[in-house]
Amino acid sequence: MGYDSNNIFARILRGEIPCTKLYEDEFALAFPDIRPQAPCHVLVIPKGPYMSIQDFGAAASPAEITGFFRAVSAVAAQLGVAESGYRLLANAGPDSHQEVPHFHVHILGKRKLGTLLAVP
Ligand code: 5GP
Repeated sequence: MGYDSNNIFARILRGEIPCTKLYEDEFALAFPDIRPQAPCHVLVIPKGPYMSIQDFGAAASPAEITGFFRAVSAVAAQLGVAESGYRLLANAGPDSHQEVPHFHVHILGKRKLGTLLAVP
């Protein structure tokens, strides 16, 4: 199964669905999650068509990978959570409950986040 170019984040990248842009460069876009799970809950997505970290790690260029992760840390600093701490979360595939099949990381912070996993 290949990349679905009609997934919601592809449509956000094309400007077909609005988002509040918090950060944008040639490699990445960051915007608030529509259903925030913490006072700070921001999504960072690469601009290229990658389904998950598996796809991104295997197929993205070194420049895309470097650019993306530099953007993630820049966004965390911009959000004011670099010092207080935050959780970076990336779901990949069915067991993870990945909902949108375009690679993204969640930046969660501005509250005590507790243990790593919620009880199912
Ligand atoms: P996943 O479960 O795939 O790791 O996370 C997908 C996230 O995307 C969810 O937290 C969900 O709230 C968020 N989301 C889904 N649709 C939209 C949307 O149209 N706009 C924004 N800003 N976030 C969305």
